[in-house]
Formats: sequence, structure tokens, C-alpha cells
Amino acid sequence: MTIAYIALGSNLAEPLQQVSQGLDAIANLSQCQLLDHSPWYRSAPVGPRGQPDYINGVCAIETTLQPLPLLHQLQNIENQQGRVRSQRWGARTLDLDILLYGDLTLNTPELQLPHPRMAERNFVLLPLADIAADLVMPDNRPLTQLLANCPSGGIVRL
Ligand code: ADP
Ligand code: MG
Repeated sequence: MTIAYIALGSNLAEPLQQVSQGLDAIANLSQCQLLDHSPWYRSAPVGPRGQPDYINGVCAIETTLQPLPLLHQLQNIENQQGRVRSQRWGARTLDLDILLYGDLTLNTPELQLPHPRMAERNFVLLPLADIAADLVMPDNRPLTQLLANCPSGGIVRL
């Protein structure tokens, strides 16, 4: 059993409904147990301009799935919720990213762990801290240190 943290985000087609439904779908995955989830946050978009605001949150699961099968299950959920992959970092109905999978460090083209951009994203770090304040990264940096070094603007807790 491994504890993994998953980031949820949406900025299209009723984002709050998308992330809530995504969370339910994660809770219903076989070999996964939902342990906890953060409050939702509203954040200004990263990447292409002119996109609607995002709704973001983080959940913790305990799983017996290996990292790649877990990623594929999450991509299944994204696809079921109508995600169309077009522009990188463009608007999306649902984005599910694996932030951490235990203390595993992985660097393959398909999957990088910890998630390579999490340290720059307050919309990931803030909800993560809500459910795992004492978390320490695989490279021994405490989450509190990442938070202290991350820009703090453009986000509100709902
Ligand atoms: P982003 O989440 O960066 O906006 P996408 O959701 O379109 O972009 O993901 C692009 C690719 O990122 C996916 O096809 C996946 O293989 C890869 N990827 C690498 N590491 C991770 C991770 N930790 N969690 C989710 N996807 C990842
Ligand atoms: Mg993604």
C-alpha cells in the first residue's frame, strides 16, 4: 500500500462539478481508497491567456496500483469527463496529476514523480498543505519550505 497525492483541476463546463465528479470517480477506483481531500480553491489560469479561472484541489489515496497503472486510471477518468487534449496548458474539463507516489522519484517520458511543476504552483501546494501539512518531499524538502518559496497571489479558498 502506498499513499499518493493527486491534484484535481478544471476550468471548463461547470468546473466545481467536474472536480467533485472527478473526486467521486477516484474514490470509486478499484485498488484505491480515498483517505482525504482538501477544500476547493479558485485560481487564475496558468499558460494561454483568456481562459476562465480554475477550480483546484488535492486528494490523498492509499493504493496498491503501481504508478503507471494509476496514471492510466486517472487518464481514463479525464477522458470519461470529456477532456479533449489540444493546447498544452490550455483549458480543460478535468486535469488529474499525480503529485507524489510515496517517496518515489521517477523520471520517464510518460510519468515524472514528484510532479515536476508542483513547487511553482500555489494552487497545488496550498490544498496539499491542508491535508498534509507535515509532508516532506522525497528530496527532504518540507512542504512548508516549498510554500514559503512559492508566489502566493491569484488564489482564493472557496
Ligand atoms: P498538464 O497536467 O501539465 O497541464 P497534461 O495533463 O496534458 O498536462 O499532461 C501531459 C502529460 O504529462 C501526460 O500525458 C502524462 O504522461 C505526463 N505526466 C508526467 N508526469 C505526470 C504526473 N506526475 N501526473 C500526471 N501526468 C504526468
Ligand atoms: Mg495533467
